[in-house]
Amino acid sequence: MRTIQMVDLKAQYAKIRKEVDSAIQEVIDNAAFINGKAVTDFTASLTAYMGAKHVIPCANGTDALQIAMMALDLQPGDEVITPSFTYVATTEVIALLRLQPVFVEVDPKSFCVDPAAIEKAITPKTKAIVPVHMFGQVADMEAILDIAKRYNLAVIEDTAQAIGADYTFSSGTTKKAGTIGTIGTTSFFPSKNLGCYGDGGAIFTNDDALATRLKMIANHGQSKRYYHDIVGCNSRLDSIQAAVLNCKLPHLDEYAAARRQAADYYDKAFANHPKIKTPYRSPFCNHVFHQYTLILEGVDRDGLNAFLAENGIPSMIYYPVPAHRQKMFDAFGGAAFDLTITDWLTERVISLPMHTELDQEQLNLITNKVLEFINKG
Ligand SMILES: *Cc1c(COP(=O)(O)O)cnc(C)c1O
Repeated sequence: MRTIQMVDLKAQYAKIRKEVDSAIQEVIDNAAFINGKAVTDFTASLTAYMGAKHVIPCANGTDALQIAMMALDLQPGDEVITPSFTYVATTEVIALLRLQPVFVEVDPKSFCVDPAAIEKAITPKTKAIVPVHMFGQVADMEAILDIAKRYNLAVIEDTAQAIGADYTFSSGTTKKAGTIGTIGTTSFFPSKNLGCYGDGGAIFTNDDALATRLKMIANHGQSKRYYHDIVGCNSRLDSIQAAVLNCKLPHLDEYAAARRQAADYYDKAFANHPKIKTPYRSPFCNHVFHQYTLILEGVDRDGLNAFLAENGIPSMIYYPVPAHRQKMFDAFGGAAFDLTITDWLTERVISLPMHTELDQEQLNLITNKVLEFINKG
């Protein structure tokens, strides 16, 4: 049996090796390392795939969030509502720009930000909401857009974990996660659902004026070469990464299907277990399973993690410390936020291997070992 990994990028590469190698070679042959044809092509393909009006590629998913907040012209002290149960990058850029992160609860079922908690946290200083499509499931965007409209707030969707996921409104309209709010952001970090072989990211918007600002900010605030109108940064997707993404984007839906199939296998094996809660699947989105995350009740989680490791099975805690309890937010009053649901989840979640190359034999071993440990405890 192939070694089980949280994410098996080697096995995935083996299937697309010829295309990827020749795409990378072409960039080198043409020496078009920055803003080359591969970048233009990828931007066009991703625009079509997402059904977004504008796609602005950038250097990584953290920059994408930062550029989004800069483009909205938020001022120091403005409040930005964000879940605490997320990867730190979502919340870090808020602090970096000297905005005030306002941490709110997630819905313990979906792991995504709770719209009722957002509305309760709104003050006259609130300017934006940053929902995170956690673990590959789209947040309750219809409710979030409704709140944003009533309070005149911008919505930045952190889509780093959910590229390719569809969200269906009660009207029946379907949109890609990341194209629903004011701005969407994503990451092409290697282990993400659409990963390159280094760092990469992108920003989505349907607003022409915002698209112009986003492009300028990602390129030193430049309107025309050597004319810099606003303060920006240098954030580019490089051509070699774009070449890899050009090979992988056509496979994205098939990759999501493979992840869903692995999730189905897990779901079935753990169904109705009194100590295991399998991931909720919202009826308004098709989960793309960036992670497969269980909630354990009455289980020695560290013991399970160690037992699985002894049996050659990796497992991870995403994330061991919620954002509001990170030291970096001491100066922003992080620990003063009372988030009992977030703390409760943080103590109980565990993520199992999830990627596009899991086979039946591996899934069988993983589920058997998880059940063996839990049932003997
Ligand atoms: C990975 C990730 C990011 C950051 O992406 P990078 O490309 O690593 O900068 C931001 N938000 C979430 C939710 C992520 O999972």
